[in-house]
Amino acid sequence: MTVRVRFAPSPTGMFHVGGARSALQNWIYAKQQGGVFVLRVEDTDAARNKPEWTEGILSALDWIGIERGGYEGPYFQSEYAGEHRAAAARLHASGRAYYCDCTREAVQARTGSQYQGYDGFCRDRGLPAGEGRALRFHTPDEGETVVVDLIRGEPTFENKLIEDFVIARGDGSPVFLLANVVDDMTMGITHVIRAEEHLPNTPKQQLLWEALGVKPPIWAHVPVVVNEKRQKLSKRRDKVALEAFRDEGYLAAAMRNYLMLLGWAPSGDREIVEWSVIEQEYRLEDVNPSPAFFDEKKLRAFNGEYIRALPVEEFVEACRPWLTGTGTIAPPPWQPEEFDADAFAAVAPLAQTRIALLSEIVPNVDFLFLAAPLIDEAAWAKAMKEGSAELLDAATAAFEALESWDAETLKSTLEAVGAERGLKLGKAQAPVRVAVTGRTVGLPLFESLEVLGRERTLSRLRAARVRLF
Ligand code: GLU
Repeated sequence: MTVRVRFAPSPTGMFHVGGARSALQNWIYAKQQGGVFVLRVEDTDAARNKPEWTEGILSALDWIGIERGGYEGPYFQSEYAGEHRAAAARLHASGRAYYCDCTREAVQARTGSQYQGYDGFCRDRGLPAGEGRALRFHTPDEGETVVVDLIRGEPTFENKLIEDFVIARGDGSPVFLLANVVDDMTMGITHVIRAEEHLPNTPKQQLLWEALGVKPPIWAHVPVVVNEKRQKLSKRRDKVALEAFRDEGYLAAAMRNYLMLLGWAPSGDREIVEWSVIEQEYRLEDVNPSPAFFDEKKLRAFNGEYIRALPVEEFVEACRPWLTGTGTIAPPPWQPEEFDADAFAAVAPLAQTRIALLSEIVPNVDFLFLAAPLIDEAAWAKAMKEGSAELLDAATAAFEALESWDAETLKSTLEAVGAERGLKLGKAQAPVRVAVTGRTVGLPLFESLEVLGRERTLSRLRAARVRLF
């Protein structure tokens, strides 16, 4: 039997990191089993779906490593409406489903509770199909439905507690529960790996598989992802969109490594590992079934490590979208023609060890590409002390006289200028740094001055001096 798994997102919003994780789990499982990964877009909720969300999902999957062409599909659920209706009709014809004209109010009046499920009133009434009549599945009164779940063992549900649930609405349109099952059958799915929130649907869906005469799949319900308050990550409250992480400058490799560590760990005392190790060692059976904490701080630290591990040419390339403002990434504060790729390449190794997100490259190097530095007023106030004007004068004069413009000479020159005033290098650097870069922190100063060049450094020192009058 060839293993066939599927990832079945609904295109109702930005692509959630939890979704990315489920997709990767399916991806790995297919790879490990020599199986097939199917992508199915569940687009039947016309009111909430938008085509741009579908495109967003496909490109986010691409980014995380599930590349177009590497899977079967995408199939679109809306194209299988005929199959969904045929399955509903079969269930009715075989006596496993019946039409029901009860209103919610009538059911509540009979059961005396709004929390109790449907009471089976229409089970034996033999109503024909008709406008406004829902089709309900006749659940067994006895026995149990045992779900085989790779992560959770065998969750068992008493059939008598499963109400006769609706499978097609009053207008004849099949509901999600049924459409999802029929698609899985049509697509020959053998393993359903999906979010824990669908576990309550599973006994109902398994009953549908059985009633339609097909062996149910093996299931795996992946634990929810929660925030630091142990609340389920929500798109209203938390940052959850994979695209948002991408645009901040998380590397796909760091992201997918981190996502796989939610509820699982590779062998040995390791966390940061090659994707091939994860593909080899990951076992759905070993995933911890309790909620997994999505720790952005930790992810950020991971990302920093991934950035530092890049060959410098790759780091330079990876930074490019933030330096040139391409695609969904906001443009940097300089004009495109001011960007100087060689100057960036010269400071890139210094920046690579200092940033945790690729977007942080911009404030580190903007001084190189702007006609004048963006002065951070708080930094200015902190660095410019009594005596700073004289220090800047002396530094400017000493720099002007230099024959060679290199980091080492610049450093020893400023050291000497500071020493004459009883200042350690750190203190002497602060006003120079703010004058030239606009900030109190940043890349090593003298390397920065070397790359910025004599003319621009001197004119910024002079401009700062004027500002101090
Ligand atoms: N479309 C459903 C969702 O996005 C997926 C259901 C499933 O995986 O079975 O939640």
